Amino acid sequence: YAAKTRQCGSLIYHAQLDVGSQESLSLLSELRRAVENDELRLFLQPKIDLQQGRVVGAEALVRWQHPQRGLVPPMQFIPFAEQTGFIRILSAWMLEGAARFSQQAREAGLALRLSVNLSTRDLMDQELPAKIEAMLAPLQVAADSLCLEITESAIMDDPERALSTLEHLHAMGLKLSIDDFGTGYSSLAYLKRLPVDELKIDKSFVMAMERDLDDARIVRSTIELAHNLGLSVVAEGLETLKAWALLAKLGCDEGQGYFVSKPMPQEQFVAWAQAWQPPDISAVTAESLMA
Ligand code: C2E
Ligand code: MG
Ligand code: MG
Ligand code: MG
Repeated sequence: YAAKTRQCGSLIYHAQLDVGSQESLSLLSELRRAVENDELRLFLQPKIDLQQGRVVGAEALVRWQHPQRGLVPPMQFIPFAEQTGFIRILSAWMLEGAARFSQQAREAGLALRLSVNLSTRDLMDQELPAKIEAMLAPLQVAADSLCLEITESAIMDDPERALSTLEHLHAMGLKLSIDDFGTGYSSLAYLKRLPVDELKIDKSFVMAMERDLDDARIVRSTIELAHNLGLSVVAEGLETLKAWALLAKLGCDEGQGYFVSKPMPQEQFVAWAQAWQPPDISAVTAESLMA
């Protein structure tokens, strides 16, 4: 039994497993069991309006509460879930959880838009729009209370097919966002054609912008690019008050990061949001921003 546990533990760490191998089959059955035994957790990280300081939404991030290994972060099983196609089950679970949370939050007086991450496999699924429609039908949740985050690479895998799925989802009223913007390879020609509403600047740029002028310039140009295309822009990796002040000054619409809060179990979110007090960014002077 101990040997098996150890083996499971090490399996999860390998992002690239041979699909069809014994190890891979055993991790896949563990993931199936995780859903049946209710081991997946939906965590939420707040998204803040940087000009007003209000909580405007949250990103749903999955965790696996493993009976032996504790709380497993997504990067230890998402790549595998993508390889095996299990991601479609996980995405459906996250989408429904986010929609239900949005309804619950509204009943508590909070209007929040919930963002959910999708992968290439989801975009290649032509049934996805119909599945989301059926999931939303019995709930009191408008389609525009959900935002789907997609990376550039997921789109560029098969741009034409992704475009057709995204157009369908957008026509249903769902919001669409390009995640980790600036790190993948994407083409501005596609960006122009995609029916997206939001760009999320990757945290690597935001976290470095206070000490690296090039990163600061990339952040500034991305905000301009987004606004010139009529898109709203979110900075992820907001870790300091100074970063908040700088982003607000550059006109960035929303921010998300450890300065505001780490992702938390969904059960804690409403109380957290009700207690949230925005900081006074006017305390950070223009001089200190230039330093
Ligand atoms: P992502 O979608 O870019 O999510 C943002 C990640 O950055 C989260 O990591 C979040 O905890 C982290 N983060 C946010 N603010 C800060 C900050 O200020 N500093 C630092 N150092 N990190 C920050 P997490 O939850 O570990 O998720 C990692 C990635 O796993 C996500 O990146 C996403 O690509 C993937 N992922 C998570 N949940 C799901 C899911 O349900 N479905 C899919 N397809 N992918 C998911
Ligand atoms: Mg994301
Ligand atoms: Mg991201
Ligand atoms: Mg990222």
